[in-house]
Amino acid sequence: MAKESVSGYTSLVRDCYRSGGYVFARRAGSAGEGEETCRVARLASNENPRPPSPLAVELGCRALREANRYPDERMGDLVAALQDYHGPYHFVTGVGMDGVIETVIRTLVCPGERVAVSTPTFSFYALAAIAQGADVVNIPRNSDFSVDTSSFVRGAKDAKVSFLCTPNNPTGNVTSPEDVEEILSSIPGVLFLDNAYVEFCETDYRPLMKKHGNLILGRTFSKAFSLAGLRVGYAFVPEWLVSCYMRAATPFTLNSVSASAAIGALGDREHVRDTVARVRRLRKKVIEECRYPAFPSGANFVMVDVSPSTGREIAERLSEHGVLVRSCESFPGLGPHYIRVSIGEEWENERFLDVINTL
Ligand SMILES: *Cc1c(COP(=O)(O)O)cnc(C)c1O
Repeated sequence: MAKESVSGYTSLVRDCYRSGGYVFARRAGSAGEGEETCRVARLASNENPRPPSPLAVELGCRALREANRYPDERMGDLVAALQDYHGPYHFVTGVGMDGVIETVIRTLVCPGERVAVSTPTFSFYALAAIAQGADVVNIPRNSDFSVDTSSFVRGAKDAKVSFLCTPNNPTGNVTSPEDVEEILSSIPGVLFLDNAYVEFCETDYRPLMKKHGNLILGRTFSKAFSLAGLRVGYAFVPEWLVSCYMRAATPFTLNSVSASAAIGALGDREHVRDTVARVRRLRKKVIEECRYPAFPSGANFVMVDVSPSTGREIAERLSEHGVLVRSCESFPGLGPHYIRVSIGEEWENERFLDVINTL
């Protein structure tokens, strides 16, 4: 049923259907021809293309059978599993890291107070801060997307919370722990370091938790752990934040099925190891073989400069060939000439390279 041919498919994104875990696109045949289908390469959302670990599925199903009961408000089993995985840190949980970000802002920021964001980056920080009535200031990165620590410190001097993403979405670059530490020691407020992609790079920011009482490390089960649909996020937080966060959060920060599946995902280290190994191997290949310049990346995606075309044009043309990528035009502070491409399964990235290199 599925055809793997690369070219000749138009209007793909308009008519898709799902089967056996894949998305297929239909093309109405021209007069006299039948309908053709092709499997869509989903490289737009930085998901893990692999299904969840069987252990996550098993524990999630078991929890579903007892879903008549409320979950534990403190998420004690998940917190214990996180402590077992990472060590004796303090954790809070939320509905995706998005949920954690929203609750952290609600906990720490009053309307009219300031939130600083290192841009270009993930747009949700500013959206969540504005929804809370905060005054958002953008701190632009350097032209190579590295963080200028002194301008960050200046921009964050009145901020209750500042957001810094590393590896950064969508640029992919990593800010060193030394630079993060310099910022932590020089700002009066809290630094939320978004580590959604940290499993895919070789940098570990956890040791900074021990030395700094103003650091939050945001993490998610949506990327390396294959649980995007279940919406499980968490954060390493300083001890003083735990009870304030719990007061600001809804009584149950997660549902019992998601929490149990996350415990299963933590228990299958092989799944994460395989995922990370595949991402590093294919990431290197995509960067090397793409005919447009691709930026170095510590994440499960790469940003590509498609000048002189715009990101939107290239994303549209790729979609006509069954390859979905993200145009970066909607990221404030970034020019119009970039796309972001997830590292998917091997066939997906091969298809991306075949198509983009012949556009
Ligand atoms: C994907 C992502 C998140 C969180 O995703 P959730 O699915 O809400 O856990 C957070 N920050 C960045 C930069 C991301 O790309």
